[in-house]
Amino acid sequence: MRSSRYYIGLLIAISLLTSCAKHPVFIDRGSYIAQVVPDNPGQDNRVKFLVMHYTAIDDEGSLKTLTSGNVSSHYLIPTKPKLVDNKPVVYYLVNEDKRAWHAGLSQWGNSAGLNDGSIGIEIVNYGYEDRGELREWFPYTSEQISTIAVMMKDIIQRYGIEPQNVVGHSDIAPQRKVDPGPLFPWDELAKRGIGAWPDEETVAFYLAGRETSEPVDIANFQTLLAKYGYQISISGVLDPETQKVVSAFQMHFRASDIKGIPDAQSEAILMALIDKYRTKWIQPVM
Ligand SMILES: [Zn+2]
Repeated sequence: MRSSRYYIGLLIAISLLTSCAKHPVFIDRGSYIAQVVPDNPGQDNRVKFLVMHYTAIDDEGSLKTLTSGNVSSHYLIPTKPKLVDNKPVVYYLVNEDKRAWHAGLSQWGNSAGLNDGSIGIEIVNYGYEDRGELREWFPYTSEQISTIAVMMKDIIQRYGIEPQNVVGHSDIAPQRKVDPGPLFPWDELAKRGIGAWPDEETVAFYLAGRETSEPVDIANFQTLLAKYGYQISISGVLDPETQKVVSAFQMHFRASDIKGIPDAQSEAILMALIDKYRTKWIQPVM
C-alpha cells in the first residue's frame, strides 16, 4: 500500500521537476501540505514604520538591556561599529519578522501601538545632561551616522515605508520620550532621500513674509500637528502636554529652537509637510 508520505514526496518531486510559473509549488508542513498560489496582488508589507531611538546608556549596558527580556529592538548601533570588509557591523537583536518591544504606548496618525508594524533601531548615545538651565545633548558619532544612513535606506526600500512614517520615538510618544533628540541628523538623512522633509519654497510660501518667531494661533497649530500624525488634543491652550508635542515636532524638523513654543516658522514647516505628505492630490476631471 502506498503511504501518504509517498504521495507527498511525489507531489513535491513533481513540483520540483516542473518548477516553472505554471506549475504549483507544495510546502510539506509535516501534518499538512500548503499549495502556494504565486503572485497574489492582494497583499502588502506588515512593516509600515521605521522608529529611531537612542539608548541613553553605554555600549555594554545597551546590549544587556535590549537582550534581557523587558525591552528590545530589531537593531542596535554601537558607538563605533566594527568594520568587516569595510562594512559596518551592527547588532541584529530581533528578527525583522518578529515584534520587538521598543515603542511602548505610542501613536502616529491612525495607528496606535507601533511595535506591531514597525522596525526599531536603537543607537548607543547618552542622550542629554541638564546643567542648570541648559540641556546639553550628546552628539552621534560620524560612524553611527553613516551606518544608520545605509541601514535606514535599505529597510525603507525593502518594505516600501513612506517618508512620513520614518519617525523618532519622540514623534510617536511625545509625552514620555525625547529620543533620538535634536542632534539626530534628520536634515542630513533627508538629503540622502531618507524620511520626510519639507520643500524650502513651500515653507517660504507659508511663512508669507512673517518673522520666524511670530506667535501663531494655538488651536490651529494643534490641528495641524494632529493632521500630520501627532497625538494631541485641540484645546487652544499652550499647556505642558502641547508644549511637549511641539518640542517633539521641532526636534525633528526645526532643531535650532526646540522650546516647544508654536511660531510662524514651525507653522510654515508643518503646513509644507502636510502639503507634501498628507494631502491626496486629486486630478481634475477633464
Ligand atoms: Zn526610544
